[in-house]
Amino acid sequence: MNSPELAHGPGVRAAPHYDRPAKRAKATLRAARAIDELALVHALQGSLEPATLLGIFSERLSECVVHEGLSLVHPEFAAHVGDGGFFSCDWPLDAKNRSAGQLRIHTCEPPDEQSMVLLRRITPWLAQPMSNALTCERLRRHAREDALTGLLNRAALERILPREVSLSRREHTPLSLLMIDVDHFKQINDRWGHALGDRALVLMAEVLRECLRQSDLAFRYGGEEFVVALPDTDPSGACQAATRILARLRDHSNRHLPQLMTASIGVATLEADAANESTELLQRADRALYLAKGQGRNCVVSA
Ligand code: GH3
Ligand code: MG
Ligand code: MG
Repeated sequence: MNSPELAHGPGVRAAPHYDRPAKRAKATLRAARAIDELALVHALQGSLEPATLLGIFSERLSECVVHEGLSLVHPEFAAHVGDGGFFSCDWPLDAKNRSAGQLRIHTCEPPDEQSMVLLRRITPWLAQPMSNALTCERLRRHAREDALTGLLNRAALERILPREVSLSRREHTPLSLLMIDVDHFKQINDRWGHALGDRALVLMAEVLRECLRQSDLAFRYGGEEFVVALPDTDPSGACQAATRILARLRDHSNRHLPQLMTASIGVATLEADAANESTELLQRADRALYLAKGQGRNCVVSA
């Protein structure tokens, strides 16, 4: 096996843990003398989605350079098409002095000189479309995320919850909802200031991230109110999750805030095969939350 250092160009490196399939063992990185650059530029105008752009670029590139896959390397965004390879080679994507990250090309063999020349010529064509796609991705992210906590926002809840409800019906699995409201939050703001109040909300979001499974969805519903959707979770599992959240909140606020912060949680479950709507589920969780407040706060009540 050739050492990756033999190859030219920016950042060629070996990917250490590639289980090389036999059918790819003979794959070589070869470059044709020409690529239809006009067609490439035209095709890249067809999408504002990073992974789709990688797919388009990969398809055109495969006509002249054998490669296993492409990745976008960027501090905020990740995208990938195809597989990994023994070698990877990074190309900067600089659009009008603004970086759109790097294109990582995964190959089984170190790139030869012809391939490097071709890649040097055509990767800049990807830079501007990728930069535009990342701008759109940022806008899409802002439209669904809460700026303070990074959780999904209420608009996202209104889009996602009906989908989760119909999914749970189709799969005959329960779907639980937690409605969470921080206790006496106004006092925290009044006593310690709005900035500390904001920090406390960020802490609450961290608690949710730490306590939930990957399939669970956490939303900032508004102010100091949060909603968590727990797919495939029955009432007892949902109460367990809620209790875990309260315990973690106590622990974190003890360590990171000047006073103890507690919350009240209302739980509602859409039983498999029930005919409830997402709004009704939210209302039930809200009613349970109201009961939790009435029962003295810092507790979980199931509707
Ligand atoms: P309860 O236990 O009954 O829920 O009382 P509470 O004080 O938590 O509820 P209330 O609705 O009276 O007060 C909520 C407060 O949350 C009032 C509002 O100023 C504050 N708040 C809403 N959004 C934000 C925010 O983004 N940052 C900060 N720091 N405060 C916020
Ligand atoms: Mg409230
Ligand atoms: Mg409150």
